[in-house]
Amino acid sequence: MNIHEYQAKALLRSYGIPVSDGRVVLKAEDAKTAAGELDGPLWVVKSQIHAGGRGKGKFVEPEAGDKGGVRLAKSVEEAAEFARQMLGRTLVTIQTGPAGKQVNRIYIEDGSDIERELYLALLIDRQTSRISIVASTEGGMDIEEVAHSTPEKIHTITVDPATGLQDFHGRRVAFALGLKGAQVKQAVGIVKNLYKLFIDKDMDMLEINPLVVMTDGNLKLLDAKMGFDGNAIYRHADIAALRDESEEDPKELEASKFDLNYIALDGEIGCMVNGAGLAMATMDIIKLYGAEPANFLDVGGGATKEKVTEAFKIITSDPNVKGILVNIFGGIMRCDIIAEGVIAAVKEVGLKVPLVVRLEGTNVDLGKKIINDSGLNVIAADDLSDAAEKIVKAVKG
Ligand code: GDP
Ligand code: MG
Repeated sequence: MNIHEYQAKALLRSYGIPVSDGRVVLKAEDAKTAAGELDGPLWVVKSQIHAGGRGKGKFVEPEAGDKGGVRLAKSVEEAAEFARQMLGRTLVTIQTGPAGKQVNRIYIEDGSDIERELYLALLIDRQTSRISIVASTEGGMDIEEVAHSTPEKIHTITVDPATGLQDFHGRRVAFALGLKGAQVKQAVGIVKNLYKLFIDKDMDMLEINPLVVMTDGNLKLLDAKMGFDGNAIYRHADIAALRDESEEDPKELEASKFDLNYIALDGEIGCMVNGAGLAMATMDIIKLYGAEPANFLDVGGGATKEKVTEAFKIITSDPNVKGILVNIFGGIMRCDIIAEGVIAAVKEVGLKVPLVVRLEGTNVDLGKKIINDSGLNVIAADDLSDAAEKIVKAVKG
């Protein structure tokens, strides 16, 4: 789960990490008052969307100006005007995809005088099963580009969970960032608090780009991106409350309401499967037969008829889906329940693409009978390869 920059900064502030003073604005008419509460003489007007690259982004509407989604204003009036131009408009950045994202919230900040922009991130390194700190002097720009063209400018410092974060980790980060004197001490403090926040809130990603050295020599975090482990959100009501559903894929959002494990993908074959392992195997075998899965979907062990119906509806609502493969091994789940769910869903939403069903396990004969008696145009399959072969053939001819 991701949150907005202004929410991330509130968390950082609560851990004593230096960020600018700012106000969030939802309505254009509130922008002037909000900006007036900040000192100036520089204001930063920032579009809040769950995507980076806002500064270099472009609005679809010409009224929003062509200066991107992060703009510097020299007066309260100018800040309010920028906020008015951005609100409700669609911002396209390298991370939003071509459709862009609508800006529904603006964050107005007290502007900082920048000397140097640096990069700092904490992430879960799945190769070492540890938290790594990534630091670079090349902040403020596209870090993927830096990693590609000048990899020597990216420093990775890995923390052993047995010791946790120590001051020497912070010092290594500071030296990698070319910091000196009092800045080293500041950086050690910042890294320590970032690490604590990361652990406390079960984050999987925390990216600060840029961390800046200001003209007065002090450090400050000017941008923050945070991701949280979805499986641990139940432990953090405060984080769950920050969720902005308008930022999420509508299909994934719908699936989460019914407690379905669903991830939208780019392929053409919709999959409905029970069990994560079987879902992975189903995706693999679809690829083996030369097609691509349109989604990962695990309906779970104890799915009800309603849940199966919802799952089916979500799959068919995806215009990329050119065929559906239902692959169920009925252990806890009964095959007749799946069959009833599929039929109920088809009756409700119709079936415009080929459907292959492979059932195995508890009540399999009853399940098959329900499908056969339904009069629906369903292709029956005997095993996993047979099913994959049939659906790929039905879709690709
Ligand atoms: P992003 O483009 O989505 O990553 O948004 P950022 O928050 O990183 O802002 C983009 C750029 O705007 C930064 O890299 C800075 O160069 C600039 N910027 C952001 N805040 C300030 C500020 O307080 N003062 C100044 N002078 N520039 C800022
Ligand atoms: Mg940034």
